Amino acid sequence: MYDLLLRQCRLLQTDRTIAEVDIAIKERVIVDIAPKITGNTKLELDIQGKLVSPPFVESHIHLDSALTAGEPRWNQSGTLFEGIEIWRERKQNISLEDVKQRAIATLKQQATQGVLFVRSHADVSETSLTALQALLEVRQEVKDWITLQVVAFPQDGIYSEPQNDLLLEKALDMGADAVGGIPHYELTREDGVKSVHRIFELAQKYDRLVDIHCDEIDDDQSRFLEVVAACASRTGLGSRVTASHTTAFGSYNNAYAGKLLGFLRRTQINFIANPLINITLQGRTDTYPKRRGVTRVKELWQQGANVSFGHDCIQDPWYSLGTGNMLDVAFMGLHVCQMTGTAEIDACYDMVTWNGAKTLNVEDRYGIEIGKPSNLIVLNACDRYDAIRRRAIVEYVISQGKLLVKTEIPRTIWHGSCS
Ligand SMILES: [Zn+2]
Repeated sequence: MYDLLLRQCRLLQTDRTIAEVDIAIKERVIVDIAPKITGNTKLELDIQGKLVSPPFVESHIHLDSALTAGEPRWNQSGTLFEGIEIWRERKQNISLEDVKQRAIATLKQQATQGVLFVRSHADVSETSLTALQALLEVRQEVKDWITLQVVAFPQDGIYSEPQNDLLLEKALDMGADAVGGIPHYELTREDGVKSVHRIFELAQKYDRLVDIHCDEIDDDQSRFLEVVAACASRTGLGSRVTASHTTAFGSYNNAYAGKLLGFLRRTQINFIANPLINITLQGRTDTYPKRRGVTRVKELWQQGANVSFGHDCIQDPWYSLGTGNMLDVAFMGLHVCQMTGTAEIDACYDMVTWNGAKTLNVEDRYGIEIGKPSNLIVLNACDRYDAIRRRAIVEYVISQGKLLVKTEIPRTIWHGSCS
């Protein structure tokens, strides 16, 4: 007796080919994938030839600041730095319940749209560590339907205040999954370099992943990515390391960028670009031509680096828009990075699915294969290109073998004349 049987699936397989199959689930595990499965089941869904994909992965978001846009005031300049100022005011009065309620509301919004794996940063620059404590509690409370990773993120820098270094270490002690940083926002270049070394030291001491907000600035002299790459190589942490944003990479001269790409080829580090937010945050001091403010996604992808796309913010001081829809993210990434070739469009889909799973180091439990946990989504689309082009609706979300969400497809009736 199966728990769930999905009939007539258009399955997007791990090798990215499509197979027309049935999928059987029992005790939270995918137990069979075959053209025609017989046997009794508790629940059967007719998928009607729609696309069945592994769930979306949100590899970079800030759940602690989500849904606070306009509090206490709107970011009128649209810059990263006004955003940081506003958040500094807003976080004076955050409480455990405030953060938890907004984080869970955001996670529900994401899951409704097919996201079942999320990496969130938690600001650990305030002495009470309320945001971190709240997200750690949320991680536990939602674990039956969504996987949440929490990064200890020193938003104001590790060396800007004497206590920040201790707070970061305390956050790891409390159970953060990854250690973060913001070297380009440290007071000096030397502090920035020192902060990267400190992050790697802590990652090794506590055996945690690394995810650094790195060079998120238009300054072509912001060069902490090379430090991250060197530390990743020397420590052997490789694929456990992620460089988020790296927007300055888009501003480096080609001679330096070419050299850096060569160095990066020797590391296994992951990259996360956040196209929705960086296309709006960056380039604010430019006249024309105005830069795009996104890292060199296409070049990194072409040389085989693991690149994923993140949403970064949903209605917060840095980005007042957003719904959590990862197809919006892939759609914007495709445009900003000019990835319009057929393989490139498909790659943009992978950047919000498989590549994100690799960044989160959850590949062993990701993908629709016999023996893997049964997390999958059904899209009202026929392939990856169709899903991105129409930002297809996620009709079903199956999380850990259970039907978590069903969304009705809107129906349009044409009342005009035919001519
Ligand atoms: Zn971020």
